[in-house]
Amino acid sequence: MSAPAIAATRGRYCPCCDRHLREGFLPGPDGRPDATCPRCKSLERHRFFAILLGALRPQLGRVGTLLDIAPAPQARARLLELEPRSYVRFDLRPGRGVDLRGDITLMPLRDRCVDLLVCYHVLEHIPDDQRAIAEIGRVIAADGLGILQVPWRPGTVTDEDPDAPEDERIRRFGLADHVRYYGDDFEDRLVAGGLDVTRVTPADYLGAEANAWMGMGQDQSVWLVRPAGAEVAPTKWTIPTASPLASTLDSLVAELAKARAERQEARRALRQATTAP
Ligand SMILES: [Zn+2]
Repeated sequence: MSAPAIAATRGRYCPCCDRHLREGFLPGPDGRPDATCPRCKSLERHRFFAILLGALRPQLGRVGTLLDIAPAPQARARLLELEPRSYVRFDLRPGRGVDLRGDITLMPLRDRCVDLLVCYHVLEHIPDDQRAIAEIGRVIAADGLGILQVPWRPGTVTDEDPDAPEDERIRRFGLADHVRYYGDDFEDRLVAGGLDVTRVTPADYLGAEANAWMGMGQDQSVWLVRPAGAEVAPTKWTIPTASPLASTLDSLVAELAKARAERQEARRALRQATTAP
């Protein structure tokens, strides 16, 4: 497959802060290009989260309790749009924007009380992740949904060692406070924690042009989870995938990118012609 036409142009759109960015995204924390929104600081994963939430919204209906574990400020605006009856931001450490403090392996919450649970980039920090996953499975309501993401390398087995020294953790797991890098068995761990699992990627929702326009990243996955065996109406939680509208958006973005590239080329030619001796 050829590179999306939009990749050669600068303009981008951030679905987290709903802004068109003439100069595109800034590099990411590790220097990767096309990653950080200059306005709201969203990264690829926050932008896919915004798109995912939009796609799931009709099925979510009226959200009762929303549990946001280690909340990311970049996701807040889109979560608030759901108008949950109760929005609980949960973290181990106190701080601004934390409503409830606690340990994810022993959450101070009743069984089945959470309608929507968000847990991004948390489990790779937790030595006993199986216990944390069981807690997630315990608190989600029978017809509730969890949206999870972890650093994940497909085609590998999870590499973990909570006791590894700091420099080794940085080398093997990416950050000093990570204790593992997940592989294909991540899904087995979720199932062992009592969850039904569906993995989704940006390509399930939008085409290559639209994904590049919103800087969603090539290789990210998100896991939609719900309590296994829960009695849920069969129409609920069918995963909405790329609609005809998505392919229309994709060709529109490609056309705009081509038109913009042609305009830039014409301007360059004009400049050359008018400055030629
Ligand atoms: Zn933004």
